[in-house]
Amino acid sequence: MIPAPFEYERVEFVDHAISLLSDDPEAKLLAGGHSLLPLMRLRLARPSKLIDISRIRDLSYVREDGDRIAIGALTRHHDVASSELLQAECPIVAYTASLIGDPQVRHMGTIGGALAHADPAGDLGTVMLALGAELVVRGPNGASRRVPAGSFFRGLFEPDLAHDEVLTEIRVPRTGSRGWSYLKFHRRAIDWAIVGVAALAPDGDGAAVALTNMADRPIRASGVEEALAGGADPATAADRAAEGTSPPSDAFASAEYRQEVAKVLVRRALEEAMSR
Ligand SMILES: Cc1cc2nc3c(=O)[nH]c(=O)nc-3n(C[C@H](O)[C@H](O)[C@H](O)COP(=O)(O)OP(=O)(O)OC[C@H]3O[C@@H](n4cnc5c(N)ncnc54)[C@H](O)[C@@H]3O)c2cc1C
Repeated sequence: MIPAPFEYERVEFVDHAISLLSDDPEAKLLAGGHSLLPLMRLRLARPSKLIDISRIRDLSYVREDGDRIAIGALTRHHDVASSELLQAECPIVAYTASLIGDPQVRHMGTIGGALAHADPAGDLGTVMLALGAELVVRGPNGASRRVPAGSFFRGLFEPDLAHDEVLTEIRVPRTGSRGWSYLKFHRRAIDWAIVGVAALAPDGDGAAVALTNMADRPIRASGVEEALAGGADPATAADRAAEGTSPPSDAFASAEYRQEVAKVLVRRALEEAMSR
């Protein structure tokens, strides 16, 4: 289908984008367009105006910042996947970005767009949740706030972003030698996850395990984390992977099937993370 009519304006500065958003409650930001434009073509989204932020150069970077790695929100998935800094310091992020869609999607889609879209089937939100990443959000009058990934995803396609706020940066911890795994169960390499699992091996704070497409947002597998903290082995802990989940039933899989897959995938992810 053809999208409903809309205006278009390209901006070079974040504050200009914020001011245009403030002026028009029906306007929307356009980054890589790989989630928004399909919705517009189906007329599930009908913004009055697209504010194209994709050319804001100073929002595309991966750099060291103290004990964190800072990733500009407009960094494309391909650049995240091929960042030597992330491959060395937080490899789960680079690896997961390399699994997204196909080369075209990875060359257009941005990490900020993926997180702001807040699709529970998206891979990167789950990884950010497991890592305890921080998301930097800018609003009117230069206001800026940092949101923990754990509270950024509020529901289905519902990020903690006001209409006139822009996600500008994602801050991930250096995981160093800590073992990790991201496993994605799907039918074809380019497909979205039917179920996905991000796992970080236990350190001083215990293990971190998060799930993709097992609720209306990315969620921590708290039962698994609790079992591991209590000394359970990965296979025993993974049996609790379905606790607290509410996965969808759709054309790809039933909710019950997803819950069974999650148990298998969590076990494999923990074994991989602990052996790395
Ligand atoms: C064929 C295909 C396969 C895909 N496969 C996968 C997959 O396997 N795994 C996966 O995780 N994803 C997948 N994706 C989604 C992909 O990751 C998208 O690129 C991503 O979801 C959206 O990023 P974008 O930059 O294109 O955002 P856009 O589509 O431009 O924007 C998405 C939404 O976020 C808002 N937005 C964008 N940037 C910002 C910002 N900085 N601040 C605030 N709001 C913002 C927009 O207004 C819009 O509402 C796939 C997409 C396609 C088309």
